[in-house]
Amino acid sequence: MAEYSVFSLLRNAFSGSPDWKPAWRKPDPKPSYDVIVIGGGGHGLSTAYYLAKEHGITNVAVLEKGYLGSGNVGRNTTAVRSNYLLPENIRFYEHSMKLWENLSHDLNYNVMFSQRGVLNLAHTPAQLDDLARRGNAIVHSGADSVLMAPAEIKRLMPGIDISGTARFPITGGLMQWRAGTARHDAVAWGYARGADRRGVDILENCEVTGFIRDGDRVVGVTTTRGEIRAKKVAVAVAGSTGHVMNLAGIDRMPIESHVLQAFVSESLKPFLDTVVTFGMGHFYVSQSDKGGLVYGGDLDGYNSYAQRGNLPIVEEVNSEMLALFPSLARVRVLRSWGGVCDMSMDGSPIITTGPLPGMYLNCGWCYGGFKATPASGWCFAHTIARDEPHELNAPFTLDRFHRGILIDDKGVGSTPRLH
Ligand SMILES: Cc1cc2nc3c(=O)[nH]c(=O)nc-3n(C[C@H](O)[C@H](O)[C@H](O)COP(=O)(O)OP(=O)(O)OC[C@H]3O[C@@H](n4cnc5c(N)ncnc54)[C@H](O)[C@@H]3O)c2cc1C
Repeated sequence: MAEYSVFSLLRNAFSGSPDWKPAWRKPDPKPSYDVIVIGGGGHGLSTAYYLAKEHGITNVAVLEKGYLGSGNVGRNTTAVRSNYLLPENIRFYEHSMKLWENLSHDLNYNVMFSQRGVLNLAHTPAQLDDLARRGNAIVHSGADSVLMAPAEIKRLMPGIDISGTARFPITGGLMQWRAGTARHDAVAWGYARGADRRGVDILENCEVTGFIRDGDRVVGVTTTRGEIRAKKVAVAVAGSTGHVMNLAGIDRMPIESHVLQAFVSESLKPFLDTVVTFGMGHFYVSQSDKGGLVYGGDLDGYNSYAQRGNLPIVEEVNSEMLALFPSLARVRVLRSWGGVCDMSMDGSPIITTGPLPGMYLNCGWCYGGFKATPASGWCFAHTIARDEPHELNAPFTLDRFHRGILIDDKGVGSTPRLH
């Protein structure tokens, strides 16, 4: 397959594009594979890519029930950061950040990773103290973070209201400059192309409908495109985790599925060149290269598998935006959508062998799994290839919920919708 470069672009532009091939093949399923990855979202595709690249395991199929990118990987608001408090999370997300920093080169695909910074706002002195504590933890772990005063924030984003009469006055913020955004579809397409080039079969419109068992051991799956056997079956289906695990006879998971909505406004002239999050509620916004404000907020607050949301959150999110940026009051919302998030009980993920022999599980990404895409696939591939976790994902076990060893970055307890 042709390398993408400025030279190949020019050559094809002037020659009628004879070299352009589809970015990945559309093969028929083989009867068996070494590894099946269920779920063609970011995490499933990156797992397949790193299985092939890092471990030389190429007899792999990714099974996707719809088309690539139809799940949360194509629905998220693209924020990437590693500014977590707890050491397990900082180490893991910082590894992800380092993979992001070289991802376009690694995949030979422009994922438009833009390190424009992510700023978390504080609205009370106590909240600023809390951000300072988090910033110190981040800096001590080797990642970057810096506190900003209100005047600096105003210089960075002139549209923000820092006046004393603001509904929620701003006392400062914690900035991670290496954080930013990436083009979510490109991430899915880049990993798909990279995996396909190494021999991985990507099977779209191939829904897993059941698991084939030999005693306890999982030895394959039944799908809408027939039965497929495998030595190892990996599950990376995000919001559908409960449903898919149920097909394997596991009816209780420490996961709840919730809808998260997102919004995009009409295009505006350059207004905001960083990502900013509100501290008094759940709201965050960035501006896309096309000029639209891309923003979102809280979960809808009830369990659901529907990829669409309800009106109360529309009102809440938009009122939070106006509390920060009153000048946006007359901007029109272009569209909104929803995705189903796999909310874990402590807000941290699960990347593990099991829970059945022959099975591997990747889930619990809540509404923060896009930024984890590279490290998640990298660690999951290691876990599948070696039958044991990498030290980076060793803390993210399934049985931590039985043992009470939660990794609760926000410190809000076992209430999934609060993470
Ligand atoms: C509105 C919204 C905003 C978000 N914003 C951010 C953000 O700014 N930053 C961030 O880091 N994270 C964000 N997230 C979270 C992030 O998108 C997810 O955590 C992450 O994408 C989940 O992993 P994935 O990409 O593998 O999931 P998905 O793309 O959902 O992949 C799972 C795939 O499994 C497939 N599947 C399900 N069941 C089956 C089956 N039976 N057989 C075969 N295939 C199946 C699905 O079709 C789907 O394609 C956001 C999420 C949403 C919904």
